[in-house]
Amino acid sequence: MPRIDSHQESNRSQLMSNCLFCGIIEGKVKADVVYRDENVIAFKDILPRAPVHILIIPIAHIPMLSDLTLSDGSVVGAIFGVAAKLAEQFGIVDSGYRIVVNCGADAGQTVFHLHYHLLGGRQMGWPPG
Ligand code: 5GP
Ligand code: ZN
Repeated sequence: MPRIDSHQESNRSQLMSNCLFCGIIEGKVKADVVYRDENVIAFKDILPRAPVHILIIPIAHIPMLSDLTLSDGSVVGAIFGVAAKLAEQFGIVDSGYRIVVNCGADAGQTVFHLHYHLLGGRQMGWPPG
């Protein structure tokens, strides 16, 4: 059985005062919020890399993809459900879209509150840079 770190667990259950995205969740940092429920919030990226660029994040402060555990299945599922709904709402279902999660230094993660980039509205390159 994997051990659960109690500090990590308490981080997850509360908003982090020094976290930018927790600040958005709390309403202390302004953002263009396009979706919110009890587990997930989505808002437009401040520096959009595509005509549609939305960040979808868990309300719980989970720092990065590698912090997810099997018990996070429902919130991750909810994030993908929200992504599908927003793709429909923002008119990128037929043209196609991409969901990106940067995890750690090599991937270029800059904000350490797990976030899923929903990108669409232009042709994307492959492989990603
Ligand atoms: P990362 O590089 O960690 O994968 O993605 C972080 C994203 O957060 C970037 O795309 C960046 O533009 C976005 N971002 C950084 N600060 C803010 C902010 O204050 N508000 C919003 N809406 N997005 C932000
Ligand atoms: Zn946070």
